[in-house]
Amino acid sequence: RIVSPQASSPNEESVERALRPKSLAEYTGQHRVREQLEIFITAARKRQESLDHVLLFGPPGLGKTTLAHIIAHEMGSQLRQTSGPVLERPGDLAALLTNLEANDVLFIDEIHRLSPVVEEILYPALEDFQIDILIGEGPAARSVKIDLQPFTLVGATTRAGMLTNPLRDRFGIVARLEFYNTEDLTQIVSRSAALLNTTMTEDGAREIARRARGTPRIANRLLRRVRDYADVKSDGVVTVESASAALSMLEVDPQGLDLMDRKLLDTIIHKFDGGPVGVDNLAAAIGEERDTIEDVIEPYLIQHGYLQRTPRGRIATLTTWRHLGLQPPSRGEDGKLF
Ligand code: ADP
Repeated sequence: RIVSPQASSPNEESVERALRPKSLAEYTGQHRVREQLEIFITAARKRQESLDHVLLFGPPGLGKTTLAHIIAHEMGSQLRQTSGPVLERPGDLAALLTNLEANDVLFIDEIHRLSPVVEEILYPALEDFQIDILIGEGPAARSVKIDLQPFTLVGATTRAGMLTNPLRDRFGIVARLEFYNTEDLTQIVSRSAALLNTTMTEDGAREIARRARGTPRIANRLLRRVRDYADVKSDGVVTVESASAALSMLEVDPQGLDLMDRKLLDTIIHKFDGGPVGVDNLAAAIGEERDTIEDVIEPYLIQHGYLQRTPRGRIATLTTWRHLGLQPPSRGEDGKLF
């Protein structure tokens, strides 16, 4: 899927690393989050303390990993990176924690996927910079306390609601990342084009930005595909015409919706009379995981008024019927079509 917000190959990951902004000043958009972090980081540095633990949440590709790197960089600390599913046993986390140096930043991606036994280790670590580990088995087992260096945990998750309360309560700073507006994405695309030595017109950048689902990772990926297209079909300069032609070829429509978005909306309309339809039925009908629908596809569609989430299920809005070139139906007071 061209517009999948996850990095999909090692090659893509290395390009992403190269395009990643290194400091808060280079980090475009997310003004509220940036301003908050700037204050808290400056204060922590002034006091020569570790920064309070930070929870970042928002759909994939909006810059959570990037921010974790930036926080470490701005604090002048090292970043250690891992993810919820990788930490299978309590010992895995204990080993990481005991190796941290003073004021290090530990980044745990997909933190909602930590297993409960691993999460237990984290509570005293976050609160008192201590861990309790059990040595031995059976009646001879005893618990040993180990002191840790003060550190900052940066946790990332797609939905804050998936975290347990005790874990969420232990973060002093909670920041929600929003989809980017076209202005900010245009700046991001222009910056990336310069780093990739690509010549691009301002409206070429804007065209890519407009059609990138509010997501920097998608914008950067579309930029690389549009660049290929411009190299092959014209003189290599990315203009609004080459961007538009390349994006149509990639089946990204003028509103920036991709094949999967349209498949989901089309299914609600044609198989479920416009909804309401439960997310599990929808997942089965389009052959996608429920989590992918909820974390990746839906948030943008809901924010842009294509989809409504109701207690009885998902409903396609009038905007969707019109977007797909269909005549919207009339509904009775009970929401049923007639
Ligand atoms: P997440 O961890 O939320 O999935 P990442 O931090 O990996 O997202 O961001 C994906 C890519 O998007 C990064 O490689 C980076 O180049 C780009 N990016 C994200 N946020 C920004 C930003 N605010 N400014 C510029 N580029 C960004």
